[in-house]
Amino acid sequence: MDLIGGTFANPRHADGAIEDISPADLQHVIGNFPWALSQVDDAVAAAREGARAMSRMSPSERADLVRRIGGVLKAREDELARAIAVDIGKPLWEARTEAQACAAKATITADDGLRLVAPFPAPGQPGAECRFRPLGVLAVLGPFNFPVHLPNGHVLPALACGNSVVFKPSEVAPHAAEVYARCLVEAGVPAGAFNLVQGPGPVGAKLAAHPGVDGVLFTGSWSVGLAIERATHGQTKILALEMGGKNAALVLRDADLDKAAYDVLFSAFVSAGQRCTAASRLIVEGPPERADAMARRIAKLAEGLTIGHPLDAGVFMGPLASETALARFETGISLTRAETVLASRRLSPRGLRGCYVSPSVHRVRRPDGTAYEREELFGPDLAVFDAPDEDAAVAFANATEYGLAASVHTRSREAFERCLSRIECGVVNWNAPTVGASGRLPFGGLKRSGNHRPAGLHSTLYCTAPVAVMSGEAALDRGRLAPGVAWVDE
Ligand code: NAD
Repeated sequence: MDLIGGTFANPRHADGAIEDISPADLQHVIGNFPWALSQVDDAVAAAREGARAMSRMSPSERADLVRRIGGVLKAREDELARAIAVDIGKPLWEARTEAQACAAKATITADDGLRLVAPFPAPGQPGAECRFRPLGVLAVLGPFNFPVHLPNGHVLPALACGNSVVFKPSEVAPHAAEVYARCLVEAGVPAGAFNLVQGPGPVGAKLAAHPGVDGVLFTGSWSVGLAIERATHGQTKILALEMGGKNAALVLRDADLDKAAYDVLFSAFVSAGQRCTAASRLIVEGPPERADAMARRIAKLAEGLTIGHPLDAGVFMGPLASETALARFETGISLTRAETVLASRRLSPRGLRGCYVSPSVHRVRRPDGTAYEREELFGPDLAVFDAPDEDAAVAFANATEYGLAASVHTRSREAFERCLSRIECGVVNWNAPTVGASGRLPFGGLKRSGNHRPAGLHSTLYCTAPVAVMSGEAALDRGRLAPGVAWVDE
């Protein structure tokens, strides 16, 4: 269902319907979600009212609202996690961490995020200060892989800063989005301040370009981010674009190989490789034999991963999120001419005909710049490269149009610092998986991964506009007139 102006309802005249089928078995119909383009106009109109209501609330009332939302998200964590697990096939343990991150975001926003947009005076200039004002109506467009946590990462700062929101979730996870919306209503979000419109890409396209929308907070692929940028060109609305990655893990000569192997295994295959920060490239410093050995080692570990139904205990990896995701992944790996160290196969755990696929590892001895090496495959595959020295490893890590995440595995702080200063990414982790991120830090990428408006802690910044305020004397001081002004009293 959609949520418009505080009321949940299906569109009266639908243009289509999403049949939400779990990728875990391709049988269980979770629900039917009719959608209509005309809902976008209604939702934006409701959000314009909602924006007025939000801007009338004081900052502390808005912070309280966000904290209340966090409380409901925490109380309904299990329901939210199950909805995520069935919608996109994320194993329950991992879906729980996503649900927990949603509640944590409320606290971080109310405590730390709002501090970034608190008024501040200009030092040494009495009467000069900076205030932050809300933008108005913000569209939030969500991806399928974190269908609740990432939209929530835009929604809560938007509300905390006094905006209203129209949320268009991924068409792969309409059920999880509706459960999320019900949490916000339960927490007492004012009617119109938070609206939900279900539907596929064209609904998102209409919403992003809508003249009643003041900003677009988007998490998804580079190609859709680019389409949004083109469609909104000249509208002067704020775009915060969080996009894809082709992330590299660098294993330097002195790394602890057990630790590095575990971190890379986790980075490449958690969420079945469907994370924007997933490591899809491993670069091993040293002679080619070292990379050969690392590829074999990770392949062996990957073979032992438990793949199964997302609601079963002890499962590391569930299915890919949809048949489309599965087809895209299989096409992606079919493009490589590299040696297959571990081949991907379709699996049927418990005899289920879901979107299950096992991990794959490829050893690339001669990089040839094919789409396999350049494009985000968004599935459980790791390409392993060798580099003769640290400089070559860093250069190779940067030889991509993306710039989201990287990890460097080394015992040497100096070596890490050298790499950190040269790696062109917004997230650079030391002896940790590429997928590690803190909600208390900014989160965003360079190049095709983002447009320099990082989310995470910094999300309150793109939900506001700074306003410079200079205060003068209330009465005219005749002694301080500009040269050449001859004052005449009436
Ligand atoms: P996607 O780009 O296909 O879709 C994202 C959203 O945009 C969906 O809601 C979709 O319906 C909507 N959309 C589609 N066409 C549109 C259009 N023309 N105008 C407006 N909206 C439109 O992404 P996805 O497949 O759902 O998610 C996977 C992608 O998201 C990957 O590239 C991944 O790296 C990226 N991602 C990035 C981050 C990050 O923080 N940088 C986090 C998670 C995922």
